[in-house]
Amino acid sequence: MRIALASLLAAGGLLLGACAGNPSLDGANASGAVRPSAPTAREATSADASSQLEAAPQATGELTLAEVPDWSGAPSVEVFGNEPDFTEADLTTNTYLGFSELDGLGRAGRAVACLGTETVPMEERGSISEIKPSGWHSVSYDVVEGGSLYNRCHLIAHELCGVNADERNLITGTRYLNVDGMLPYENRVTSYIVSTGNHVLYRVTPLYRSNDLVAQGVQMEALSVEDGGAGIRFNVFVYNVQPGIGIDYATGKSWRTGEAVDGSLGSSVVGTGETDAASAQAGDSAVLDRNGRDVSTAAYVLNTRSMRFHRPDCDSVRDMKQANRLAIDDSREEIVSQGYRPCGRCNP
Ligand SMILES: [Zn+2]
Repeated sequence: MRIALASLLAAGGLLLGACAGNPSLDGANASGAVRPSAPTAREATSADASSQLEAAPQATGELTLAEVPDWSGAPSVEVFGNEPDFTEADLTTNTYLGFSELDGLGRAGRAVACLGTETVPMEERGSISEIKPSGWHSVSYDVVEGGSLYNRCHLIAHELCGVNADERNLITGTRYLNVDGMLPYENRVTSYIVSTGNHVLYRVTPLYRSNDLVAQGVQMEALSVEDGGAGIRFNVFVYNVQPGIGIDYATGKSWRTGEAVDGSLGSSVVGTGETDAASAQAGDSAVLDRNGRDVSTAAYVLNTRSMRFHRPDCDSVRDMKQANRLAIDDSREEIVSQGYRPCGRCNP
């Protein structure tokens, strides 16, 4: 049953200031229970429940693939009227992270969290290349910006929770899912948390068709706590597709469809080895490395000539020659052990 969040919030900041010092990294365990129970909210004593939330919540619930419209060209679609399905028991400012154990097919499941400044990581991302999510194939196409069809795609973004190389938090996702679909929502939540210090309830659910190893997509739900959803409130399904590429979701195998690819590359025919051209066509936002990978998806960027390493957003990365630029997911220690020194500008 849904509750009026306003009644709780109008009760006088009852949950505010209750932040836990440390997020639990194992809020869920082997039982598959992924909704750690929040502290029981006290009954709202005030009848004044009208102010903060105007709209009556729409009916929400479990999303099934049958309810998801076929992909029609947008990276995501709103579901349940964009209303996230969080209940009274979920409302908390105690941060936590809960991941489902892998199922019998090795697939990651629902991840749920209460995110806040406590969970936003201070450390750089380390390597995740050792993890092979279900359906994983390392395959590249020239029609995919950056080359690689698949990303090891975090359910709860590292930028939000600091959890990186955990197999329960990674699925085989297309670059389109990762960058065009999920990233804009993740960035919204991150900036909201950083700018307000508030908390966000957050749930990501991969949806698989029967025994497929690759998810059809992920449902993303989020609700900001302290302001009753005024800052962050969404419930969307993000498609695990890649324009121009066909995917066998049962196995992860893929092929070129020969269809024209919409988007910044402008053409389905961008020859391999023409990465400079691809970079130019991709616009100002994408900085590609010498393999055509968008460096913004990497942990670090190497200058293989000067033997310096950088954060992906360092201005020096854009300035260096593409032939010397190499995006890498290795840990800082691994990079240093290879003789690279940190850039003095971005202090990676
Ligand atoms: Zn730098």
